[in-house]
Amino acid sequence: MINILNKEKCCGCFACEAACPTKAIYKIEDEYGNLFPRVDTSKCIDCGKCNKVCIYEQNISFSNVDQVYAGIVKNRDTHMKSASGGAFSALAESFINRLHGVVYGCTYNSEMMPTHIRVNALGELHRLQGSKYIKSSIQPEVFCCVQNDLKNRVPVLFSGTPCQCAALKQFVGEKNCDLLYTVEVICHGVIEQPYWRDYIQLLQTKHNCTITDFSFRNKDKKRSFTARYTARYTLKNGTVKEKRYYTTPSLSYYYNHFLSGKIFRENCYSCMFAKSVRQSDLTIGDFWGYEGSLPKDKGISAILIQTVKGKKLFDLACELLDVSKSNFESVAKTNEQLKQPFDKNKMDYDVLTEWKMYGAEYMQKQFSQKHWKAFILRKLGVYV
Ligand SMILES: Cc1cc2nc3c(=O)[nH]c(=O)nc-3n(C[C@H](O)[C@H](O)[C@H](O)COP(=O)(O)OP(=O)(O)OC[C@H]3O[C@@H](n4cnc5c(N)ncnc54)[C@H](O)[C@@H]3O)c2cc1C
Repeated sequence: MINILNKEKCCGCFACEAACPTKAIYKIEDEYGNLFPRVDTSKCIDCGKCNKVCIYEQNISFSNVDQVYAGIVKNRDTHMKSASGGAFSALAESFINRLHGVVYGCTYNSEMMPTHIRVNALGELHRLQGSKYIKSSIQPEVFCCVQNDLKNRVPVLFSGTPCQCAALKQFVGEKNCDLLYTVEVICHGVIEQPYWRDYIQLLQTKHNCTITDFSFRNKDKKRSFTARYTARYTLKNGTVKEKRYYTTPSLSYYYNHFLSGKIFRENCYSCMFAKSVRQSDLTIGDFWGYEGSLPKDKGISAILIQTVKGKKLFDLACELLDVSKSNFESVAKTNEQLKQPFDKNKMDYDVLTEWKMYGAEYMQKQFSQKHWKAFILRKLGVYV
């Protein structure tokens, strides 16, 4: 029976919950909103299935990175909506078109909480586009849905963080993996949903609206690589209006805390997947340090191929991508998480404690004050 004694040894994938035949596993929240599994011993039949699917209790196999490419999706609109070079969309589109498969990935639900869904139509792929810098939840039904697809011999492309891909593979079992293709994002850590929920609520209160989208990587000409969110207003006469707002990591406490890595889940600071060998078929991320001939202004994808299945995915997607060959070192030099986990020393419990005690409005106020002080000092030529 699963028993989490050390928070570093749980990524919150909840494969254990999905595997439990008696529904004995439920979620509990710690004081900072991080979710962990707990077993209702009155329902547990000690079958050990939860231990079998736990990535911290099994040996995970890793592969060397075999080939590395820089890539940009040819469709301009798709590129603009993607966080990096749009490699994911090219991989997903060709997977549906050429292999008649289904794609699983992360979208915002109606409450703006990231969650994994199944997509089998090209017209729905846009829902998975863009990075959501929050921990995505995978409901037990989604694990089971993947299992059913594979049983019915439907090819599955599953995309997510490395721990989510590894968890899914454990859940499905190695012998059932022949039609499962995994694409992981390079990940420097995730923030749990309650912290995000408060931030979104703060924005909704501020604008008296409903937030319906949040893109962390806006690529509009004037405000390149800021964040953009969409607010929906319902007027008294029933008409619905939408307005776009923009923010930056130096104006948004949430975005800043994500990038500075202050409040990730505990396990992220000792992530077993943050290394040069990888467990998925293919890895995608930002190619920040790219020095080749592809245009650099709207984001470039780094594509790391590990397995034969990864190579097949890449070959299928190639006609939708402009690519140039590269090497692991070029990607890793600006991507620490290909070598080691995010530095634990950057974790800041004071931030979490302040948030718990005073809430989002206080966090934003404090942050803005610091920002304006820094802004004025910068203007005066005193760098802080
Ligand atoms: C939490 C997080 C941290 C990241 N950290 C880094 C990093 O340190 N270095 C780096 O190079 N790249 C990082 N990335 C990856 C990067 O931001 C892009 O997601 C990646 O390059 C794919 O971009 P794209 O243009 O190909 O496709 P996009 O359309 O932008 O990406 C869509 C893909 O991202 C997945 N996805 C989006 N949000 C989530 C989520 N919350 N959880 C799981 N999967 C999600 C979708 O399922 C889909 O596969 C991170 C992504 C996330 C979600």
